[in-house]
Amino acid sequence: MPVDSASALQWLSDHSRETARFYSTLELLAWDQRTMLAPAGHDWRGEQMAALMGLVQCRQQDPARGERLDLLEAADDLSAEEAAAVFHWRREYDRAVKVPPELTRAKVIATTKAEMVWQQARPANAWQMLEPLLEEVVRLKKEEAACLAAPDQLPYDVLLDEFEPGETAARLDPLFDELAAGLRPILDAILGSSRRLCERPLAGAYPVPAQQQLNRAVCEALGFSFESGRLDVSAHPFSCAPGPRDHRITTRHCESNFLESLYGVLHEAGHSLYMIGLPEAHWGTPLGSYISLGVHESQSRLWENMVGRSLGFCRWLAPLAKETLPGLNGLTPEKLWRSVNVVAPSLIRTEADEVTYCLHVILRFRLETALMDGRLEVRDLPEAWDAGMEELLGIRPDCPANGVMQDMHWPAGAIGYFPTYALGTIYAAQFYAAAMADLGGERAMDARMAAGEFSPLLSWLQERVHRHGMRYMPRDLVRQATDQELSPRFLLEHLTRRHHDVHGI
Ligand SMILES: [Zn+2]
Repeated sequence: MPVDSASALQWLSDHSRETARFYSTLELLAWDQRTMLAPAGHDWRGEQMAALMGLVQCRQQDPARGERLDLLEAADDLSAEEAAAVFHWRREYDRAVKVPPELTRAKVIATTKAEMVWQQARPANAWQMLEPLLEEVVRLKKEEAACLAAPDQLPYDVLLDEFEPGETAARLDPLFDELAAGLRPILDAILGSSRRLCERPLAGAYPVPAQQQLNRAVCEALGFSFESGRLDVSAHPFSCAPGPRDHRITTRHCESNFLESLYGVLHEAGHSLYMIGLPEAHWGTPLGSYISLGVHESQSRLWENMVGRSLGFCRWLAPLAKETLPGLNGLTPEKLWRSVNVVAPSLIRTEADEVTYCLHVILRFRLETALMDGRLEVRDLPEAWDAGMEELLGIRPDCPANGVMQDMHWPAGAIGYFPTYALGTIYAAQFYAAAMADLGGERAMDARMAAGEFSPLLSWLQERVHRHGMRYMPRDLVRQATDQELSPRFLLEHLTRRHHDVHGI
């Protein structure tokens, strides 16, 4: 047992790095599973991953960690960085030891089964198949929250805190209400605009190799290096970092629509640039890790939406796309810009535009908070969903597959996860507004984008966001980076400005 803080910190740091070596190997196996693995190899891969996961969990629960954390929490000689690391090690340790193994096992069984049934029930539109399994998942999540809750902490907040440290439903309620109230008039103005675009143009036949060439060129221009990164194909796009200099993103291709893959790549590259910007010297410890899913998502949405859908970016992209893809001879930057800024209420969250996206998330947040505090039962979810869609987006799902059953998150046990998507969008707009102000204003930023100069923005993000790892809690990070309290105002202003230009609202 160590006697001083310095040796306790060193021990925890070494232990954490070693665990990260195992965990990142698990990430590599998961990447391989989703991009390369032959169908018959999945059973063995499942066994490999379960074995490695067991090892990681065992290390996370090591009582020697708890002893050192106790000692460090009583110490008064820690720097602010060290205290932040101890705080996050404690969160991780408590989550690992406070849930009894029988409950963890029951949860794995219930969510695996619910996910499997969801895959069949969604295409069959069979809510009644999914309902009892989702009921069981919600019941187990409530039990889990009860094991982890601090005195006076609400069950939903326990689950939310795993993904967005420090955040609570009570703090999100007013933030999301203000956002929803502000989005409605923007959406109404667009829908009432005579310049409204009803369908996505740029339909054509775009060969996959040419799309891949364009995607790679865009990634490199943003600052993603293929010396330490890869871009591959998978059914569902994702990004991961199995090592400090090993950054991987994936995409899928649709021959008739190159924008789907390209904007997906912009999104995933944004996630990856954040991981690249984390301090390598701290890799495997809290100061070298991302702080929250919301902050992670802010980096992907900033590149995909704030940058990617700007007129300046389209001025840079249009000639490059014309040169790389056949059939785009008549493409102008303005035409490209309009086609990536089409707005229309739709049923499916993952296909939603920049204006309506957060409304989809707010609906899910309201429903899952009601589920967790007992105001809503699983059996009443479909009706509550449809009513919420009507209220927020003005449309009603035609069937459960396009409504309450569309996402895998709840069957997979990810309750408290959805808010991070809307928070990420709010953070992104606030970061982007501050970066623009620091880098000469909107016009200067647009001119830089048009010239393909992305490095000043990336450097700003590295300096203000990336390099801090988990040093600051998300809201503190935002305040420090932007000199303002977190507010949806920046997102609302961004959308008003953009759609003033696109739709004349
Ligand atoms: Zn994302």
